[in-house]
Parts: sequence; structure tokens; C-alpha cells
Amino acid sequence: MGDSRAVTLLGSYGLFAGLSLLVAARPELAPHAFPAFAIPLLWSDLRRDADSPAVLTFLATVAGAIMAARTSDLGARAGIAVGVAGLWALAAALSTHRGRQAADERALLLEQMSLQDAIRDGERDLKYYKGYEETVGSETRLRRDMADAAKSLSGTMDGAEVQARLVAVLAARFPRARLEVVPGAGGDPLLLAAARRRGPVLVKDARQESELVPGARFASAVAVPFKVMGHPAGFVKLESDEAGAFGADDVKAADLFATMAALSLENIALYENVHRQATHDALTQLYSHRAFQQRLQEEVLRSGRAQTPLSLIMCDVDHFKRYNDSYGHQAGDHLLRTLSGLLASFARPVDFVARYGGEEFAVILPNFARDEAVRLAELMRARVAAEPFVFQGAPTRATMSFGVASFPQDATTASQIVRSADEKLYRAKDGGRDRVVG
Ligand code: GH3
Ligand code: MG
Ligand code: MG
Repeated sequence: MGDSRAVTLLGSYGLFAGLSLLVAARPELAPHAFPAFAIPLLWSDLRRDADSPAVLTFLATVAGAIMAARTSDLGARAGIAVGVAGLWALAAALSTHRGRQAADERALLLEQMSLQDAIRDGERDLKYYKGYEETVGSETRLRRDMADAAKSLSGTMDGAEVQARLVAVLAARFPRARLEVVPGAGGDPLLLAAARRRGPVLVKDARQESELVPGARFASAVAVPFKVMGHPAGFVKLESDEAGAFGADDVKAADLFATMAALSLENIALYENVHRQATHDALTQLYSHRAFQQRLQEEVLRSGRAQTPLSLIMCDVDHFKRYNDSYGHQAGDHLLRTLSGLLASFARPVDFVARYGGEEFAVILPNFARDEAVRLAELMRARVAAEPFVFQGAPTRATMSFGVASFPQDATTASQIVRSADEKLYRAKDGGRDRVVG
């Protein structure tokens, strides 16, 4: 670059010097030789030397002035003046041309730079969209799996079935993993770690994490703990013989599946709770009056169809008002609870023990003839009478009266059998209480 400038300068100023010497030696040639000063001008412009044309024009003007001063010929002076003016015009034209060219080049350069920027931006966008595409792909897959899992896991009201479906959902998502849903951590270091963290654990390479999972029989694994109604309820465990088989997405998926299963189990528990509240009495946990009425209807119909006997025991605590008055309402409640357990202890699995109301109970005995039912009621009565109902360390006494009615001797419908047993119960009360009337 430096060399090329030196050649330009040497060339143009050498030429200029040569011309100057020529017209100095032969002044009469000046008007004709003067236009030749345009050559170094053009040469330096051609060589793209920005400063030289102006300097050379200035020097040529000075030379012109000296030559004009040395001649008295007006024609020669005019020739020199025209030559100088021509040089100025040429320098101006070259300068304008070069200015335009430089502006075009600058514009071109700017355009090139902005194009390069655009290419860089494009490449960056492409990289971003590729990453985005991958993320969207895995998100879409996760969402699809989630929708399938939600449908499957919420479609049953059986806890064991939820667990089986959770295993199926996991198997579909992780076809190559060994998977297990277990209720407790046992001595499994991986599950114990998940329990300690109260969250998922990902082991990418068991050899490198032997402190966390000593003696592991897998190369990589995921463990996810789950809770039902706020209590730890189990773990999902995925194992592989390949290191790095699971990533963050897999942990997320397993965690979501486990949470969904846990939600289904919670729904089942809530439903069972509500159902139990609707069919059971809160104080004694025996069946409620409503459940009793429904069951009695069913059992009477069944006995009618099967031509088998059915008995009903209705019983009532004697002088319970007095008991409450003597020992207090809490003692009364305690007695009702104890009596419920006692009566229920006589029942077979097919029998149905209910709190009919207040301190009155009912026992449905399918396939039990009246004499058998009377004998059972007598056993119950004797047991109650002998029981030292201890409340706050002190024994108390209580007795009950019993009425027994049977299908088909006493009644053929549910309401008739209740009425009959109730009548007999009141006969037992009238007869002096603590007795059975059948
Ligand atoms: P009877 O021998 O004729 O059956 O006399 P009784 O006092 O047992 O019968 P009554 O119908 O006069 O009184 C029943 C009492 O039972 C009145 C009521 O306060 C009490 N009672 C009803 N339900 C409960 C309960 O859930 N807890 C307690 N502590 N008392 C109850
Ligand atoms: Mg009573
Ligand atoms: Mg009563």
C-alpha cells in the first residue's frame, strides 16, 4: 500500500517537475505545454491519491503565475490563464466525480455490512427456532401423554385400578425402562433420597453418584414421591441399564403422572368419605337410618324372592335420659358408642347393624328365623346387662329392651316388619325393660 502511494507521488510529482523544468527552459512553449500539467493530475487521480490533484493544481497555478509574469506577450498570458482555468475545472470535475464514487462505495459498504448483519441475525434466528422446535416437540408430546394419562387415571373409582393404570401410562411413556409404583421407600437408597428431598430425584449415572445410590442395580434412574391427602403415599421408580437414559423432561413427565394418579386417589378418598358420611352415623359409625331403610327394602324383596326367612331386632337403651342426667351427655355418647361396638360384635358379615335414631338400634338378620333372632337378642341383652360400662375410670350400668319381628310370620313388607318390631320393643318396655319380646 505504502509502496503504491510512493509510486503515485513519485510519478505525478516527477512528471510535474519535468514539465516545470521544460517550460522554465523554453518559456515560449509555456502556453502550448501548459495543458500537459493535466497529465500528472489525471495520473494521481487514476491512482486514487486524494490529496495530490489539489496540490498539483495549486503548484501548476503558481507555475502559471510565474510564467505569465516572465512574458510580456498578451496572447501567451491568455493561453496560460486558459490552461490554469482548465486545470482548475479538471480538478473540480475529478473531485466531484471522486466524491460521488466515494459516496457510492460507502453506500455499498454500508449495504454489505447490513446484509452481513442480516445474515448473522438469520443464522441466530434459525438456531433459536431449531431449539424452539425441539422444545415445542417435546412439550407437545408431553401434553398428548398428559391428556391420555388424565383420561385413563380419572376414569376409575377404584384405588388399585388407579395404580394399575399409572403403571400402564408410565409403561407407554417409558417403554424401555423398568418401572415400579411402590407404597413405601423400604430400604431403597434412591427412594429414601426422594423422600428426604420431598421431590423427584434423577440419577444420570449411578457410577458417578455412588454416594447417593450405593450398590445401585441400575445405570440411571428417576424416583418421584407422591402424596395423597397431604400424606406420603408412595413412589414412582424408573430404572435403566443405560447411563443417561432419563432427562429433565422425563422427570417432569413422571412427576406429572404421579401427581395425576395422586389426585385421582384423593378424589376416590373424598368420594368414599362423602359416601360414608351419607350412609353412616357420625357418633357410632353404624349405618344411618336412611341406609337402614334402603337395606331393609332390599333384604325383604330378596327374602320374598328366595323364600327365606328374615328377622329384625329393634332395641332401645332403658332410661337413657336418666343415664344422661346422672353421668352427663358425654358419658351418654360414650355409652352409645360402646353399645354400638357391642351389638356389632354379634353380627355376621351379612347382617346389617344401624342406629335407628337417638338411643335406638336396629339389626337386620337375613336368613334368620324368629326363634334364632330371639336367641341372639337374648344374648345381646345379657351381654349389655353384664357389661361394666366404664366412663372416666368409674363403672356404670345400662340395660336395653329388645323387640324381634320376622318375615314372613309377622310381616311381608319393610314398613310392616319395622312396625311389628317396634310394637314388641314397647311391649318389652311396658313389661319392665331389660327384656326381649319376640
Ligand atoms: P326408655 O327406657 O323409655 O327408653 O326411657 P329413655 O329415657 O331411654 O327414653 P326417652 O325417649 O325419654 O329419652 C331418650 C334420651 O336419649 C333423650 C335424649 O336426650 C337422649 N339421647 C338421644 N340421642 C342422644 C345422643 O346422641 N347422645 C346422648 N348423650 N343422648 C341422647
Ligand atoms: Mg330409651
Ligand atoms: Mg328411645
